[in-house]
Amino acid sequence: MGEIRNCPRCGKVFNYIARPICGRCMQDEEEEFKKVKEYIDEYPGANMPEVSDATGISVDKIMRFLRDERLEISGEDSNIFLECERCGRSIRTGRFCDKCKDEIQNELRNSLGSTKTTTRTEHKTEKMYTATRRR
Ligand SMILES: [Zn+2]
Ligand SMILES: [Zn+2]
Repeated sequence: MGEIRNCPRCGKVFNYIARPICGRCMQDEEEEFKKVKEYIDEYPGANMPEVSDATGISVDKIMRFLRDERLEISGEDSNIFLECERCGRSIRTGRFCDKCKDEIQNELRNSLGSTKTTTRTEHKTEKMYTATRRR
């Protein structure tokens, strides 16, 4: 089933199911992804502009593969740098370093826990107090 949409990549109409782009573009992206991956596997010391030059794929797109965790920087001597979006530490894949991932998880857990309830109650009391005072 799905619905009919325009592919944001090539503009063609396609049957939208779970993928944001059409089947043809999916294949293209897959090819590009493979090219980048193979190049990095072969030349682990290559830096981003070199990979981009050699594969003909834009740095932006390679970055996206990395951020999506589809591609991982391999080898200790890699010259490709990806930074944690939170603390700027160099990471190999994804958007955050392991430490920040943990911290984000904890923050999420805390904000769902008792701390939030307490803050909300305090806020309410304060508001009521102000309202009484104004009268
Ligand atoms: Zn397309
Ligand atoms: Zn971090």
